[in-house]
Amino acid sequence: MYCRICQSKNINPIFNLGKQPLANKYPKNETEKKNEKLYNMDVFFCSNCTSCQLKIDIPREVFFEDYYYLSSVNKELKFHFEQLANEIKEKNFVVDIGSNDGILLSPLKKKKVKCLGIDPSENVGEIANSKGLKTIISFFNEDACSEVIRYGGKPDCIVASSIFTHLENLDEFIINLKQILSTDGVFILEVEYLTSILRNLQFERFYFDRPNYFTLKSIKLLFEKHGFIIVNVKKLNIHGESLRIYIKKNSKNVKVNINVIEILNEENIINENFINSKFDLFAVAIKKLKQELQNFKDQNVNVIGYGAPARLATITNFGNIDNTLISFIIDDSELKSNRFSPGMHIPIKKFDSKEIQNTSIIILFAYEYFYSIRDKMVNNNFKYFKPIPFIEMGE
Ligand SMILES: [Zn+2]
Repeated sequence: MYCRICQSKNINPIFNLGKQPLANKYPKNETEKKNEKLYNMDVFFCSNCTSCQLKIDIPREVFFEDYYYLSSVNKELKFHFEQLANEIKEKNFVVDIGSNDGILLSPLKKKKVKCLGIDPSENVGEIANSKGLKTIISFFNEDACSEVIRYGGKPDCIVASSIFTHLENLDEFIINLKQILSTDGVFILEVEYLTSILRNLQFERFYFDRPNYFTLKSIKLLFEKHGFIIVNVKKLNIHGESLRIYIKKNSKNVKVNINVIEILNEENIINENFINSKFDLFAVAIKKLKQELQNFKDQNVNVIGYGAPARLATITNFGNIDNTLISFIIDDSELKSNRFSPGMHIPIKKFDSKEIQNTSIIILFAYEYFYSIRDKMVNNNFKYFKPIPFIEMGE
C-alpha cells in the first residue's frame, strides 16, 4: 500500500473507529435504514509526510449525489466568507471549487468581482444558480476546467475551502489547477488541520467522505511535487481549526512568509506515539459521554441533541449512542429534517419550541454555533453540553 499524498510505503493502520455508516447519508424511512451499510473505519498514518488517510472502496460520486450541507445556513461561516471576499476583492477572476450554495460567490458578486463556482452536488449547485451565482455542476475535472476558461479565461485566484479532505485523486486535482491558474495567480486552500484534530481530541472529524487528513508538511510535499510553493499560511477558527494556505507556482520572485516555517516546526511532535496517546484519551471521552447520558436517563431527564453534522455519526456509532439516550436531534437544515441520523437512527427534527418543552439538557453536536443556538432559545433554561470532552458550555 502507498500513501495517497507522498507515495511512501511507510503507511500503516494506527487506530480504529469501529463500524461506521456513510456520515452524510441521512436515511428517511425504514427501507433506507435497513439498506444502510456499515464499514470498518481503520485510520492509516503515513510517517513520511505525517498525514492520516482512510482507505475504502466507495465510489466518490455516492457521497455527492444528494448532499445535505448548505453552508449559508451558518452565520459564522457566512461571516468567514465575507471576510475572505474582502481580502480578494482586487482579483480579476475568482473561481471557487466546491462553492456549495454560493457562500463565497455571493459577497464577491456584491463587490462586483467576476467569479464562478464549481460544485458536484446537483441540489446544492442548483440553489446557487437559482440565486444568480453562476455554478458549474461538476467535479473539478478537465471538462470543468475548459468551461472555466471559456467563461472567463485563466483565473488569478482559485479558492478551495473544506473540500480537499474529500478528494481521492489529489494529483489529478493539482494538475488541473496548474493548467488553469494564471502565472502569478494564487491558490487559496482552506483545509481542516490534522494537528488540531489530534491536539483537541476531535477524532469525530474522521468520516468516510474524507479520505485525507493533512498536516502542513503533507500539503507542502504534495504541492512541491507539482512545481508549486506554499507562500503563506494562517490558522483559522472554522471547522474546529483549519489552515488557510496560500500557494503559488514556484518561481524566482516568490517570497515565503515566516509563518510557513513556524507552523512546520510546530508539527515536529506528530508521530505514532503522539497520535496513539491522543486516541486513547478520545476513547475515554466517548465512554464518559455515554455514561453521562445514561445517568440522565436513569434520572428520567430528557436529553436532545442540536446539530446533525457528519461528526454526529462518528460519535454516536463509535459510542453506540441511540435514541434511548438522545430522544431526537434538532437541525436547522431543511434537507435533514424528518430523517434519521446515520447508523444509530436518532430522529432529526426542525426547530420547534413546543417540541423542546420537556427537555432541559441539550447536547451540542454543532458546538461551534453555541451562541447562535442559545440566542434562538432566549426564553428557556437549558443546560448545554459539548459532547467531546463532555463539558457544560456557559457564557
Ligand atoms: Zn505520505
